[in-house]
Amino acid sequence: MEYTDANQRLIDAIFPKILLSPKEIEKKYPQRILKEGMMVTRISPSPTGPMHIGGMYTALISKRLASQSDGIFYVRIEDTDKKREVQGSLKLIIESLARYGLTTDEGLQVSGAEIGIYGPYTQSERVHIYKPFIRMLLAQGNAYPCFCTQEQLEEMRAQQDLSHIRSGYYGSWATCRTRSIDEAFKRITDDIPFVIRFKSQGNFENKIIVQDLIKGRRELSQNDQDIVIMKSDGLPTYHFAHLIDDHFMGTTHVFRGDEWFPSVPLHLQLFETIGWQPPAYGHLMPIQKIDDGSKRKLSKRHDPEATISYYSEMGYPEQAVIDYLLNLANSNFEDWRKANTRSDNSEFLLSIERLAKSGGPLLDLTKLEHVSKETIAHMSANEVYDASLAWARVYDEKFASRMMTNEEYTKKIFGIERHEGPKARKDIGMWSQVKQEIAYFFDEEFHVDIKDLWNLLGIVDKNDVKGIISDFLKSYDPLDPKEQWLEKLRFLCERHGYAGIIKDFKQNPEQYKGTIIDVTKIFRVFLTGRLDTPDLFELMHVMGYDRITKRLFT
Ligand code: GLU
Repeated sequence: MEYTDANQRLIDAIFPKILLSPKEIEKKYPQRILKEGMMVTRISPSPTGPMHIGGMYTALISKRLASQSDGIFYVRIEDTDKKREVQGSLKLIIESLARYGLTTDEGLQVSGAEIGIYGPYTQSERVHIYKPFIRMLLAQGNAYPCFCTQEQLEEMRAQQDLSHIRSGYYGSWATCRTRSIDEAFKRITDDIPFVIRFKSQGNFENKIIVQDLIKGRRELSQNDQDIVIMKSDGLPTYHFAHLIDDHFMGTTHVFRGDEWFPSVPLHLQLFETIGWQPPAYGHLMPIQKIDDGSKRKLSKRHDPEATISYYSEMGYPEQAVIDYLLNLANSNFEDWRKANTRSDNSEFLLSIERLAKSGGPLLDLTKLEHVSKETIAHMSANEVYDASLAWARVYDEKFASRMMTNEEYTKKIFGIERHEGPKARKDIGMWSQVKQEIAYFFDEEFHVDIKDLWNLLGIVDKNDVKGIISDFLKSYDPLDPKEQWLEKLRFLCERHGYAGIIKDFKQNPEQYKGTIIDVTKIFRVFLTGRLDTPDLFELMHVMGYDRITKRLFT
């Protein structure tokens, strides 16, 4: 083919295969028809490792804002960095989203199928969509091939560092920018590796105003970096791919990590160069933790709680984790939850205005455990059984089989003090605590040394204790309702010189050896080996007559 246009010859050498035209692609992905106010948001994880709690937080915010507006929340897999890809992480990410109820309207599903008409939703499968636009930028003179080697770029960076000059590929540092078309053509035909760079028209000295959905109005320098848009393997970079995808997938609002905020001038410039309307951007402050008295960003490498699998392993109910993240997003969630203990957290109206503008929300595992205890307190005994069994099946098979062989008994144990109100049982904060928490109910787990029990009881008259126990057993009837049981207990106290009513003791302390509290402590210790247990009446009822007598007679 004879070329009259040297640039066209260069472009054809870069893209020898026929590509779709940008117009054809535009036709294939018509604009979404959206009602006023509808948001189309997305989560775009890179399969480079396990799901991070920050990713979950972003997904949660993106999903809630979309669904509150009757919009669309979709998942797009950003897998153009093949070197960093980690086998199996894609599956884990999709499963984590589903597990926490962050299901998507479009994109890859747990089944492995993809839904939605704007796909493929995985970047590595969209190269045929990116290339025509890279070609278009080359034809417009807004992009150029760059042949700088890794060594040359490192050398350039070292020089910039040495001279305290802003680093990057820009201005006179952008050496390939001025390379002649003929020379570039020759290098391409000589098979010299190359990347394609965007030819920025920006000036770093000029400022632009960025209206961030969360941070508000901010002034930033224009972008003047000639960033790589297509790598030597033919795949686009994040900067370029996300822009093409957000356009064709009709994203209206992008919520992403704050680390992307400095790239906004570049992204806006790319949108402007192509002639598209950018989505609105909102940058979320990173989740932090207190370490050694000061705040710092959670570290994927050093903090186990940074990874979402940590929460499954510990056995926090998914609802508690989502409740907690909502609390981090909007602090008024806590009050909402108090007023709506049983409501689904999707009924909470998330507000963009209340998201942290600076600083970053603080992840506090003690607070999460508290939220989790509240969540579990509002679950039914059957729900607690099912969830702890599901956890045990994965993490503690032996415990799972004990639960299954003693299903009725275990459910009764979970049923103790399971009622509404401030006195609801709140001893379980995560499923990994259940085994330990209920161990004493099972004879094979109740290994106590009688000496330890006496020690736990403190200074007491042993004969007195023995007398109280045998007297109690004489009149104990498992069929007694609570009032009757209490009544008998009071009489028992009085018979042995203890105040059945605490007020009586307060009025005449010298008349008594102690109170009903000291007497119940005896039963608590001998039956459970602990000082702190759920309600004694219910506990006895669940343990049953035989177990009680056996333990009290030891
Ligand atoms: N793939 C990017 C990341 O994992 C997503 C950034 C974005 O949401 O645009 O950080």
